[in-house]
Amino acid sequence: MDVQAVREQFPILNQRIHGRSLIYLDNAATLQMPERVLESITMQYRAANGNVHRGVHTLSQRSTQRMEWARQVVADYIDAAPEEIVFTSGTTDSINLLAKLLEPTIDPGSQIIVSGMEHHSNLLPWQEVCRNTGAELVILQVNEAGEVSLEELEMILKKKTALVAVTWVSNLLGTINPIREITQMAHRAGAVVCVDGAQGMKQADISTRKADYDFLAFSGHKLGSLTGIGVLYGKKERLENLYPVRFGGGMIASTGYYDFQPGNLPQCFEAGTPNYTGAISLGEALCFLQEIGIEKIQCREEELTALVVKLLQEIDSVHVLGNPDRRSGAVSFAVKGVHPFDLGSLLDAQGIAVRTGHMCAQPLVEHLGYTSVLRVSPAFYNTREELSVMQDTIRRGIEILRGKRG
Ligand code: PMP
Repeated sequence: MDVQAVREQFPILNQRIHGRSLIYLDNAATLQMPERVLESITMQYRAANGNVHRGVHTLSQRSTQRMEWARQVVADYIDAAPEEIVFTSGTTDSINLLAKLLEPTIDPGSQIIVSGMEHHSNLLPWQEVCRNTGAELVILQVNEAGEVSLEELEMILKKKTALVAVTWVSNLLGTINPIREITQMAHRAGAVVCVDGAQGMKQADISTRKADYDFLAFSGHKLGSLTGIGVLYGKKERLENLYPVRFGGGMIASTGYYDFQPGNLPQCFEAGTPNYTGAISLGEALCFLQEIGIEKIQCREEELTALVVKLLQEIDSVHVLGNPDRRSGAVSFAVKGVHPFDLGSLLDAQGIAVRTGHMCAQPLVEHLGYTSVLRVSPAFYNTREELSVMQDTIRRGIEILRGKRG
Protein backbone atom coordinates (compact mmCIF):
# COMPACT_ATOMS: atom_id res chain seq x y z
CA MET A 1 0.00 0.00 0.00
CA ASP A 2 1.29 3.45 -0.93
CA VAL A 3 0.61 5.04 2.46
CA GLN A 4 1.57 8.57 1.38
CA ALA A 5 -0.83 8.40 -1.56
CA VAL A 6 -3.57 7.11 0.75
CA ARG A 7 -2.88 9.89 3.28
CA GLU A 8 -3.31 12.49 0.56
CA GLN A 9 -6.92 11.37 0.32
CA PHE A 10 -7.52 12.51 3.91
CA PRO A 11 -7.21 16.31 4.01
CA ILE A 12 -7.83 16.48 7.78
CA LEU A 13 -4.62 14.58 8.52
CA ASN A 14 -2.52 17.34 7.01
CA GLN A 15 -2.73 19.93 9.76
CA ARG A 16 -0.95 21.15 12.86
CA ILE A 17 -2.42 20.86 16.34
CA HIS A 18 -0.83 23.06 19.01
CA GLY A 19 2.00 23.74 16.56
CA ARG A 20 2.78 20.03 15.89
CA SER A 21 1.86 17.78 13.00
CA LEU A 22 -1.34 15.98 13.89
CA ILE A 23 -0.89 12.31 14.76
CA TYR A 24 -4.39 10.90 14.81
CA LEU A 25 -4.56 7.66 16.79
CA ASP A 26 -8.22 7.65 17.78
CA ASN A 27 -9.50 5.74 14.78
CA ALA A 28 -11.54 3.27 16.81
CA ALA A 29 -13.67 6.23 17.92
CA THR A 30 -14.09 7.54 14.40
CA LEU A 31 -12.21 7.11 11.13
CA GLN A 32 -11.43 10.26 9.16
CA MET A 33 -13.24 10.93 5.91
CA PRO A 34 -11.56 10.56 2.51
CA GLU A 35 -11.86 13.27 -0.15
CA ARG A 36 -14.05 11.02 -2.30
CA VAL A 37 -16.69 10.84 0.45
CA LEU A 38 -16.47 14.58 1.16
CA GLU A 39 -17.05 15.24 -2.53
CA SER A 40 -20.02 12.88 -2.71
CA ILE A 41 -21.71 14.72 0.16
CA THR A 42 -21.16 18.11 -1.49
CA MET A 43 -22.37 16.70 -4.79
CA GLN A 44 -25.50 15.34 -3.12
CA TYR A 45 -26.49 18.75 -1.81
CA ARG A 46 -25.36 20.66 -4.89
CA ALA A 47 -27.03 18.47 -7.49
CA ALA A 48 -29.13 15.59 -6.26
CA ASN A 49 -30.95 16.37 -3.03
CA GLY A 50 -34.62 15.44 -2.75
CA ASN A 51 -36.43 13.32 -0.17
CA VAL A 52 -36.30 9.67 -1.17
CA HIS A 53 -39.07 7.22 -2.09
CA ARG A 54 -41.73 9.92 -2.16
CA GLY A 55 -41.51 11.79 -5.39
CA VAL A 56 -41.74 11.35 -9.11
CA HIS A 57 -39.55 14.37 -9.63
CA THR A 58 -35.97 14.01 -10.81
CA LEU A 59 -34.18 15.08 -7.63
CA SER A 60 -36.17 12.64 -5.51
CA GLN A 61 -35.40 9.90 -7.99
CA ARG A 62 -31.70 10.77 -8.04
CA SER A 63 -31.49 10.59 -4.25
CA THR A 64 -33.47 7.36 -4.16
CA GLN A 65 -31.25 5.76 -6.79
CA ARG A 66 -28.11 6.86 -4.96
CA MET A 67 -29.38 5.53 -1.62
CA GLU A 68 -30.40 2.19 -3.15
CA TRP A 69 -26.99 2.02 -4.89
CA ALA A 70 -25.42 2.45 -1.44
CA ARG A 71 -27.60 -0.33 -0.03
CA GLN A 72 -26.34 -2.62 -2.80
CA VAL A 73 -22.72 -1.63 -2.05
CA VAL A 74 -23.22 -2.46 1.65
CA ALA A 75 -24.92 -5.75 0.72
CA ASP A 76 -22.08 -6.71 -1.63
CA TYR A 77 -19.50 -5.77 1.01
CA ILE A 78 -20.86 -8.39 3.40
CA ASP A 79 -22.24 -10.87 0.82
CA ALA A 80 -25.86 -10.13 1.67
CA ALA A 81 -28.96 -9.13 -0.30
CA PRO A 82 -30.16 -5.50 -0.35
CA GLU A 83 -33.43 -6.40 1.42
CA GLU A 84 -31.33 -7.64 4.34
CA ILE A 85 -29.75 -4.20 4.86
CA VAL A 86 -31.69 -1.88 7.19
CA PHE A 87 -30.30 1.64 7.46
CA THR A 88 -30.14 2.99 11.00
CA SER A 89 -28.29 5.83 12.66
CA GLY A 90 -25.37 3.66 13.87
CA THR A 91 -24.34 0.54 15.75
CA THR A 92 -26.09 1.62 18.94
CA ASP A 93 -29.29 2.32 17.08
CA SER A 94 -29.06 -0.98 15.18
CA ILE A 95 -28.67 -3.06 18.33
CA ASN A 96 -31.43 -1.16 20.14
CA LEU A 97 -33.70 -1.72 17.15
CA LEU A 98 -32.80 -5.41 17.06
CA ALA A 99 -33.41 -5.78 20.79
CA LYS A 100 -36.90 -4.29 20.41
CA LEU A 101 -37.60 -6.49 17.37
CA LEU A 102 -36.47 -9.66 19.15
CA GLU A 103 -37.98 -8.92 22.55
CA PRO A 104 -41.41 -10.46 21.80
CA THR A 105 -39.66 -13.66 20.66
CA ILE A 106 -37.61 -14.14 23.85
CA ASP A 107 -38.88 -16.83 26.19
CA PRO A 108 -38.63 -15.98 29.94
CA GLY A 109 -37.03 -19.38 30.60
CA SER A 110 -34.16 -18.77 28.19
CA GLN A 111 -30.82 -17.01 28.49
CA ILE A 112 -29.03 -14.34 26.51
CA ILE A 113 -25.26 -14.73 26.38
CA VAL A 114 -23.20 -11.58 26.01
CA SER A 115 -19.41 -11.58 25.97
CA GLY A 116 -17.60 -9.77 28.77
CA MET A 117 -15.83 -7.49 26.29
CA GLU A 118 -18.89 -5.81 24.82
CA HIS A 119 -19.20 -2.08 24.27
CA HIS A 120 -22.14 -0.75 26.31
CA SER A 121 -24.09 -0.67 23.04
CA ASN A 122 -24.08 -4.47 22.84
CA LEU A 123 -24.72 -4.94 26.55
CA LEU A 124 -27.32 -2.48 27.82
CA PRO A 125 -30.00 -3.29 25.20
CA TRP A 126 -29.76 -6.98 26.23
CA GLN A 127 -29.90 -6.05 29.93
CA GLU A 128 -33.15 -4.26 29.08
CA VAL A 129 -34.54 -7.23 27.11
CA CYS A 130 -33.78 -9.51 30.06
CA ARG A 131 -35.45 -7.09 32.48
CA ASN A 132 -38.53 -6.89 30.25
CA THR A 133 -38.85 -10.59 29.44
CA GLY A 134 -37.50 -12.42 32.51
CA ALA A 135 -34.76 -14.08 30.43
CA GLU A 136 -31.39 -14.48 32.16
CA LEU A 137 -28.34 -12.47 31.10
CA VAL A 138 -25.20 -14.62 31.15
CA ILE A 139 -21.73 -13.15 30.65
CA LEU A 140 -19.13 -15.10 28.71
CA GLN A 141 -16.09 -14.06 30.75
CA VAL A 142 -12.90 -12.58 29.36
CA ASN A 143 -9.55 -13.97 30.58
CA GLU A 144 -6.34 -12.04 31.40
CA ALA A 145 -5.21 -12.31 27.78
CA GLY A 146 -8.40 -10.52 26.75
CA GLU A 147 -10.04 -13.49 25.06
CA VAL A 148 -13.20 -15.51 25.56
CA SER A 149 -13.01 -19.27 25.91
CA LEU A 150 -14.92 -21.45 23.44
CA GLU A 151 -14.93 -24.29 26.01
CA GLU A 152 -16.73 -22.01 28.45
CA LEU A 153 -19.17 -20.98 25.73
CA GLU A 154 -19.87 -24.66 25.02
CA MET A 155 -20.65 -25.16 28.71
CA ILE A 156 -23.02 -22.23 29.07
CA LEU A 157 -24.75 -23.02 25.79
CA LYS A 158 -26.10 -26.19 27.43
CA LYS A 159 -28.93 -24.11 28.90
CA LYS A 160 -31.67 -22.92 26.55
CA THR A 161 -30.18 -19.91 24.79
CA ALA A 162 -32.14 -17.39 22.76
CA LEU A 163 -29.27 -15.22 21.64
CA VAL A 164 -25.48 -14.85 21.68
CA ALA A 165 -24.31 -11.23 21.35
CA VAL A 166 -20.63 -10.74 20.65
CA THR A 167 -18.32 -8.14 19.16
CA TRP A 168 -16.19 -8.94 16.13
CA VAL A 169 -13.30 -6.83 17.44
CA SER A 170 -13.02 -5.43 20.96
CA ASN A 171 -12.88 -1.64 20.99
CA LEU A 172 -10.83 -1.78 24.21
CA LEU A 173 -8.32 -4.57 23.60
CA GLY A 174 -8.43 -5.05 19.84
CA THR A 175 -9.16 -8.77 20.35
CA ILE A 176 -10.48 -10.38 17.16
CA ASN A 177 -13.09 -12.92 18.18
CA PRO A 178 -13.57 -16.22 16.34
CA ILE A 179 -17.03 -15.26 15.10
CA ARG A 180 -17.39 -18.17 12.72
CA GLU A 181 -16.77 -20.74 15.46
CA ILE A 182 -18.96 -18.86 17.96
CA THR A 183 -21.76 -18.71 15.40
CA GLN A 184 -21.50 -22.43 14.59
CA MET A 185 -21.66 -23.29 18.30
CA ALA A 186 -24.58 -20.95 18.95
CA HIS A 187 -26.49 -22.32 15.98
CA ARG A 188 -25.95 -25.91 17.12
CA ALA A 189 -27.55 -24.86 20.41
CA GLY A 190 -30.49 -23.23 18.58
CA ALA A 191 -29.49 -19.65 19.42
CA VAL A 192 -29.37 -16.67 17.09
CA VAL A 193 -26.21 -14.58 16.85
CA CYS A 194 -25.90 -10.81 16.94
CA VAL A 195 -22.47 -9.51 15.97
CA ASP A 196 -21.34 -6.02 16.86
CA GLY A 197 -19.32 -5.14 13.79
CA ALA A 198 -18.48 -1.56 14.82
CA GLN A 199 -14.75 -2.35 14.91
CA GLY A 200 -14.84 -5.37 12.66
CA MET A 201 -15.79 -4.06 9.25
CA LYS A 202 -12.21 -3.92 7.99
CA GLN A 203 -11.81 -7.66 8.55
CA ALA A 204 -11.68 -9.50 5.25
CA ASP A 205 -13.84 -12.39 6.51
CA ILE A 206 -16.76 -10.19 7.61
CA SER A 207 -18.82 -11.87 4.86
CA THR A 208 -22.15 -13.37 5.94
CA ARG A 209 -21.42 -16.35 3.72
CA LYS A 210 -18.17 -17.08 5.52
CA ALA A 211 -19.34 -16.37 9.07
CA ASP A 212 -23.09 -17.10 8.87
CA TYR A 213 -24.15 -14.84 11.81
CA ASP A 214 -27.85 -13.85 11.92
CA PHE A 215 -27.53 -10.14 12.64
CA LEU A 216 -24.71 -7.63 12.24
CA ALA A 217 -24.66 -4.04 13.44
CA PHE A 218 -22.19 -1.37 12.38
CA SER A 219 -21.62 2.38 12.04
CA GLY A 220 -20.59 4.27 8.94
CA HIS A 221 -18.41 6.82 10.71
CA LYS A 222 -15.89 4.13 11.66
CA LEU A 223 -15.43 3.46 7.94
CA GLY A 224 -15.03 7.01 6.68
CA SER A 225 -18.64 8.08 6.11
CA LEU A 226 -20.82 10.69 7.77
CA THR A 227 -21.91 10.14 11.35
CA GLY A 228 -25.57 9.28 11.93
CA ILE A 229 -25.66 6.36 9.49
CA GLY A 230 -25.38 2.71 10.36
CA VAL A 231 -26.63 -0.68 9.32
CA LEU A 232 -28.54 -3.53 10.82
CA TYR A 233 -28.03 -6.60 8.66
CA GLY A 234 -30.43 -9.45 9.30
CA LYS A 235 -30.78 -12.77 7.51
CA LYS A 236 -33.87 -12.54 5.33
CA GLU A 237 -35.62 -15.48 6.99
CA ARG A 238 -35.03 -13.89 10.40
CA LEU A 239 -36.18 -10.38 9.42
CA GLU A 240 -39.28 -11.78 7.71
CA ASN A 241 -40.47 -13.17 11.03
CA LEU A 242 -40.07 -9.94 13.01
CA TYR A 243 -42.76 -7.34 13.40
CA PRO A 244 -41.80 -3.65 13.01
CA VAL A 245 -41.37 -1.57 16.14
CA ARG A 246 -41.10 1.88 14.52
CA PHE A 247 -44.08 3.26 12.72
CA GLY A 248 -44.75 6.11 10.32
CA GLY A 249 -43.95 7.28 6.82
CA GLY A 250 -42.15 5.03 4.39
CA MET A 251 -42.69 1.68 6.16
CA ILE A 252 -46.15 0.64 5.00
CA ALA A 253 -47.72 -1.17 2.08
CA SER A 254 -50.99 0.64 2.81
CA THR A 255 -52.90 2.16 5.69
CA GLY A 256 -56.33 3.34 6.65
CA TYR A 257 -57.31 5.38 9.70
CA TYR A 258 -57.39 2.36 12.01
CA ASP A 259 -55.00 -0.22 10.61
CA PHE A 260 -52.01 -0.64 8.30
CA GLN A 261 -50.13 -3.30 6.37
CA PRO A 262 -46.34 -3.19 6.80
CA GLY A 263 -44.32 -2.82 3.59
CA ASN A 264 -41.61 -5.11 2.27
CA LEU A 265 -38.14 -5.65 3.66
CA PRO A 266 -36.16 -3.61 4.47
CA GLN A 267 -38.34 -0.48 4.29
CA CYS A 268 -40.79 -1.88 6.89
CA PHE A 269 -38.02 -1.30 9.46
CA GLU A 270 -37.07 2.17 8.20
CA ALA A 271 -39.92 4.43 9.32
CA GLY A 272 -39.41 8.13 8.56
CA THR A 273 -37.04 9.90 6.20
CA PRO A 274 -33.86 7.81 6.21
CA ASN A 275 -30.44 9.43 6.40
CA TYR A 276 -30.00 8.99 2.67
CA THR A 277 -27.02 11.34 2.45
CA GLY A 278 -25.38 9.30 5.19
CA ALA A 279 -26.18 6.10 3.33
CA ILE A 280 -24.67 7.48 0.10
CA SER A 281 -21.55 8.56 1.99
CA LEU A 282 -21.29 5.04 3.44
CA GLY A 283 -21.53 3.56 -0.06
CA GLU A 284 -18.69 5.83 -1.21
CA ALA A 285 -16.60 5.05 1.88
CA LEU A 286 -16.91 1.30 1.32
CA CYS A 287 -15.97 1.72 -2.37
CA PHE A 288 -12.91 3.70 -1.27
CA LEU A 289 -11.84 0.96 1.17
CA GLN A 290 -12.43 -1.73 -1.45
CA GLU A 291 -10.32 0.17 -3.97
CA ILE A 292 -7.38 0.07 -1.56
CA GLY A 293 -8.21 -3.58 -0.80
CA ILE A 294 -9.72 -4.91 2.44
CA GLU A 295 -7.03 -7.61 2.82
CA LYS A 296 -4.31 -4.95 2.52
CA ILE A 297 -6.06 -2.72 5.03
CA GLN A 298 -6.57 -5.58 7.47
CA CYS A 299 -2.96 -6.68 7.15
CA ARG A 300 -1.61 -3.15 7.65
CA GLU A 301 -3.83 -2.46 10.66
CA GLU A 302 -2.75 -5.73 12.31
CA GLU A 303 0.91 -4.85 11.67
CA LEU A 304 0.53 -1.32 13.07
CA THR A 305 -1.37 -2.66 16.08
CA ALA A 306 1.40 -5.16 16.82
CA LEU A 307 3.93 -2.33 16.52
CA VAL A 308 1.92 -0.19 18.98
CA VAL A 309 1.99 -3.09 21.48
CA LYS A 310 5.75 -3.51 21.04
CA LEU A 311 6.50 0.23 21.39
CA LEU A 312 4.30 0.58 24.46
CA GLN A 313 5.82 -2.48 26.12
CA GLU A 314 9.27 -0.95 25.68
CA ILE A 315 8.29 1.95 27.96
CA ASP A 316 8.97 1.45 31.68
CA SER A 317 5.89 1.14 33.90
CA VAL A 318 3.46 0.88 30.98
CA HIS A 319 1.03 -2.01 31.29
CA VAL A 320 -0.67 -3.08 28.07
CA LEU A 321 -4.10 -4.59 28.72
CA GLY A 322 -4.59 -8.10 27.36
CA ASN A 323 -2.41 -10.20 25.10
CA PRO A 324 -4.83 -11.81 22.66
CA ASP A 325 -3.67 -14.15 19.96
CA ARG A 326 -5.21 -12.00 17.23
CA ARG A 327 -5.67 -8.29 17.72
CA SER A 328 -6.37 -5.31 15.50
CA GLY A 329 -7.09 -1.61 15.67
CA ALA A 330 -6.99 -0.91 19.41
CA VAL A 331 -4.47 -1.18 22.22
CA SER A 332 -5.28 0.06 25.72
CA PHE A 333 -2.72 0.69 28.40
CA ALA A 334 -2.21 2.11 31.86
CA VAL A 335 0.83 3.72 33.46
CA LYS A 336 1.60 3.14 37.11
CA GLY A 337 1.15 6.34 39.10
CA VAL A 338 -0.01 8.41 36.11
CA HIS A 339 -3.61 9.39 35.52
CA PRO A 340 -4.70 8.57 31.94
CA PHE A 341 -6.38 11.95 31.56
CA ASP A 342 -3.13 13.80 32.43
CA LEU A 343 -1.10 11.77 29.94
CA GLY A 344 -3.85 12.08 27.29
CA SER A 345 -3.87 15.89 27.71
CA LEU A 346 -0.12 16.02 27.49
CA LEU A 347 -0.16 13.99 24.28
CA ASP A 348 -2.80 16.31 22.83
CA ALA A 349 -0.54 19.27 23.61
CA GLN A 350 2.00 17.54 21.30
CA GLY A 351 -0.58 17.01 18.54
CA ILE A 352 -1.24 13.33 19.33
CA ALA A 353 -4.87 12.23 19.58
CA VAL A 354 -5.52 9.18 21.77
CA ARG A 355 -8.54 8.31 23.90
CA THR A 356 -8.80 8.12 27.68
CA GLY A 357 -11.48 6.71 29.98
CA HIS A 358 -13.33 3.39 29.97
CA MET A 359 -14.07 3.39 26.20
CA CYS A 360 -17.73 2.47 26.90
CA ALA A 361 -16.50 -0.92 28.10
CA GLN A 362 -16.64 -0.10 31.80
CA PRO A 363 -17.34 -3.64 33.09
CA LEU A 364 -14.31 -4.99 31.20
CA VAL A 365 -12.00 -2.17 32.32
CA GLU A 366 -13.06 -2.86 35.92
CA HIS A 367 -12.76 -6.63 35.43
CA LEU A 368 -9.13 -6.02 34.38
CA GLY A 369 -8.53 -3.96 37.51
CA TYR A 370 -8.75 -0.35 36.29
CA THR A 371 -11.22 2.51 36.27
CA SER A 372 -9.71 4.41 33.39
CA VAL A 373 -7.05 3.70 30.73
CA LEU A 374 -5.56 5.16 27.53
CA ARG A 375 -6.23 3.74 24.10
CA VAL A 376 -4.16 3.99 20.93
CA SER A 377 -6.09 2.97 17.83
CA PRO A 378 -4.11 3.05 14.57
CA ALA A 379 -5.67 2.91 11.11
CA PHE A 380 -4.22 1.96 7.74
CA TYR A 381 -3.22 5.58 7.04
CA ASN A 382 -0.99 5.91 10.10
CA THR A 383 2.76 5.58 9.65
CA ARG A 384 5.47 3.80 11.60
CA GLU A 385 7.15 7.20 12.09
CA GLU A 386 4.02 8.52 13.79
CA LEU A 387 4.05 5.56 16.16
CA SER A 388 7.68 6.16 16.96
CA VAL A 389 6.90 9.83 17.81
CA MET A 390 4.04 8.53 19.95
CA GLN A 391 6.44 6.30 21.88
CA ASP A 392 8.93 9.14 22.52
CA THR A 393 6.17 11.51 23.56
CA ILE A 394 4.60 9.02 25.96
CA ARG A 395 8.02 8.35 27.48
CA ARG A 396 8.71 12.06 27.95
CA GLY A 397 5.16 12.65 29.16
CA ILE A 398 5.52 10.04 31.89
CA GLU A 399 8.78 11.63 33.02
CA ILE A 400 7.18 15.08 33.13
CA LEU A 401 4.14 13.83 35.04
CA ARG A 402 6.40 12.06 37.49
CA GLY A 403 8.25 15.34 38.03
CA LYS A 404 11.59 14.16 36.61
CA ARG A 405 11.56 16.97 34.08
CA GLY A 406 10.17 20.47 34.38
N1 PMP B 1 -19.63 -1.19 19.53
C1 PMP B 1 -18.31 -1.01 19.45
C2 PMP B 1 -17.39 -2.20 19.52
C3 PMP B 1 -17.80 0.28 19.28
O1 PMP B 1 -16.48 0.47 19.20
C4 PMP B 1 -18.69 1.37 19.19
C5 PMP B 1 -18.18 2.79 19.02
N2 PMP B 1 -17.24 3.17 19.96
C6 PMP B 1 -20.06 1.12 19.27
C7 PMP B 1 -20.49 -0.18 19.44
C8 PMP B 1 -21.07 2.21 19.18
O2 PMP B 1 -21.03 2.83 17.94
P1 PMP B 1 -21.90 4.13 17.67
O3 PMP B 1 -21.55 5.09 18.77
O4 PMP B 1 -21.43 4.59 16.33
O5 PMP B 1 -23.32 3.73 17.72
